[in-house]
Amino acid sequence: MMGAYRIRVTGTVQGVGFRPFVLRLAREAGLTGWVLNAGDGVDIHVEGLESRLDSFGRDLRARAPGAADVATVSIEPVAQAGFDAFTIHESREGARPTTRISPDLATCDDCRAELFDTTDPRFLYPYINCTACGPRYSIIRNLPYDRAATTMAGWPMDAACAAEYHDPASRRFHAQPVACARCGPGYVLEVDGGVVRDDAIPRTAELLRQGVIVAIKGIGGYHLACDARNVAAVMALRERKFRKEKPFALMASDLAAARCLVDLTSDAVALITSTARPIVLAPARITLDGVAPESDELGVMLPYSPLHDLLFRAGAPDPLVMTSANVSNEPIAFDDDDARTRLRGIADAFLVGERPIARRVEDSVARAGPAGMTLLRRSRGYAPGAVAELPSSRPILALGADLKNTVTLVVDGQAFVSQFVGDLEQYDCLVAHRATIDDLLRMYDLDRGDVSVVHDLHPGYHSTQVAQSFGESRRVGVQHHRAHVASVLAERGALHERMIGVAFDGTGYGDDGSIWGGEFFVGSVRDGFQRVAHVREAELVGGDAAARHPVQAAVGFLDQIEGLPDLTAPPFDFPDRYAMARSLLARRVRCVPTSSAGRLFDAAAALAGFTRAVSFEGQAAMWLETLARGSSGADPYPFPFHDGVLDFRPLLAATARDRRAGRAPADIALAFHRGVASGIEDAVTTLCTSNGIGTVALSGGVMQNLLLLEDVTRRLAAAGLTPMVNHAVPPNDGGVSLGQAALAACLER
Ligand code: ZN
Ligand code: FE
Repeated sequence: MMGAYRIRVTGTVQGVGFRPFVLRLAREAGLTGWVLNAGDGVDIHVEGLESRLDSFGRDLRARAPGAADVATVSIEPVAQAGFDAFTIHESREGARPTTRISPDLATCDDCRAELFDTTDPRFLYPYINCTACGPRYSIIRNLPYDRAATTMAGWPMDAACAAEYHDPASRRFHAQPVACARCGPGYVLEVDGGVVRDDAIPRTAELLRQGVIVAIKGIGGYHLACDARNVAAVMALRERKFRKEKPFALMASDLAAARCLVDLTSDAVALITSTARPIVLAPARITLDGVAPESDELGVMLPYSPLHDLLFRAGAPDPLVMTSANVSNEPIAFDDDDARTRLRGIADAFLVGERPIARRVEDSVARAGPAGMTLLRRSRGYAPGAVAELPSSRPILALGADLKNTVTLVVDGQAFVSQFVGDLEQYDCLVAHRATIDDLLRMYDLDRGDVSVVHDLHPGYHSTQVAQSFGESRRVGVQHHRAHVASVLAERGALHERMIGVAFDGTGYGDDGSIWGGEFFVGSVRDGFQRVAHVREAELVGGDAAARHPVQAAVGFLDQIEGLPDLTAPPFDFPDRYAMARSLLARRVRCVPTSSAGRLFDAAAALAGFTRAVSFEGQAAMWLETLARGSSGADPYPFPFHDGVLDFRPLLAATARDRRAGRAPADIALAFHRGVASGIEDAVTTLCTSNGIGTVALSGGVMQNLLLLEDVTRRLAAAGLTPMVNHAVPPNDGGVSLGQAALAACLER
């Protein structure tokens, strides 16, 4: 029996070698017809033996290239047209380019083999790539994805590259960034006022061995690199970067080298070797002085650009510190001149790649835990992939939160989440936020007037002001913690299901103008979420400064507890800031009520011994978590739930009492964590019973705490409930834009 099918494949199927794959598949099966890139996917006409057509349809999904992400395959029988061969047709221009833009992909095994093959024309060429690997999002200036619309436009292909580019059977068929040493860009080393061209990479490796700090241009920006085992170099980097204690990421030469640094589960191995190549946080096996102070984890990634492989091959120290090239919290440098200006005084040399970067895309950060993958920063390798399908009659632009900002654009039912933008208090990040918005709109051929704009309720957020600049457009405000909860459900497509939502977070503006952050909701994304419970309110003294000083955050919580010991005396030794904050509280000056779980963790950390200022967001809670992991066991402190309120008073009273009594801080920290988990369990089981609900969505920055998350999900599962957490977007504020978009999409319908 003979037949013919018309097949439409959607998803990330352009720029990932999908058409050559279809061609090979069809020729293998003896089928005829054609394949072409359409605006919203790939169209195929295929005809031949029925039995082979069926397996062809299955293989489209099952054997798709690693870099492709097939969303849908729709197959429709059509009349036979009598083709005698299978060919690749010219692209068809769609009304709007809704094809998903591929993220940047790590070097594939085939290209790496060629990179080190002395007989290969691209032997040691730092920009080798093919349709299965290489840069995408970071080089695209415009859609459709064609060489002329990328940052490779300035390098015409030579005859050999062009032959591969035009050969449907080649791995480089329509690989837009294809190049070689003869026709393509290269790397140069700028050092001591001179420029090294020929031996740029070996010379860089040599400098790194000597303890020099080098700025290295990568895929989505510059790194600052140095020998991770050279304490003087690491400390110099900290000093110059104004980065006191926040951990540095490492790059190991290969998986075996990474395994010497950290314990990797099979899930963690899958993550660290995935085409996204994120920085993976895992338990440290060794201590590298100055790299990750006071942490029992290290963040490690593997080489993802050919340049990285070449550096290690040339003898660069293994592991390297590879941290984003910026000062403090500024956005990562990606433009060469900007890098030279901003990194002067930090880097002693610059390894500059000639291929321009179209937009900054920082390294992603992830962790493989028992509850699955958690993304802590979703950026290179993931952005701007679609993470959810959201029904909306109109495009939606969700502007995110001010910290760890991302932007989400919903167009034709797909939610695209931008790369990590950063903290919008930084002027340069605010500029980057604007650029990211314009970029996303331009890529999908939208004007500012076409979109509904979603923003946080916080009147002081920069992103809220950006929303106002949209003028005519429809604007929707979404409460911060509802957005957190909705992000979990959006990525699962569970928009209609009623559930309990738990947002344990730092801070977010509440409906009533107070600062929320320990919230329980009931409802659904479609019908909205009602706040039904929360952590007992405390006074937050002194505004934003409270987030930087755990002892200051503690004041408002501890004020409600009777019979506390003197916290300015040993073993507590709270600094003067504590007394100053107490006097502000006594006069009710600069005080706001808060139910923030993040500040509750800060208060506990202060009681357990973290009395200095934090040097990066979340540091005190991370310190407390690390401390708790050193304990061999502890029973939970009481955190009772009553009438919709989780009462922190017994929880903190026990923390203070045990510390005073000389109990080991590690055991205190664990008893506190267990207490929080058991309090959440009590609140959730009570709410589930009274509302007849069995599913719970957990999100918010506090849920990055692995010890807490594991305990909570284990307890809820044991209670017969179904806990759901974030996987595709971060539980921290990086996921807020997706949640905003989901809630707004349901309003738009
Ligand atoms: Zn490749
Ligand atoms: Fe938040």
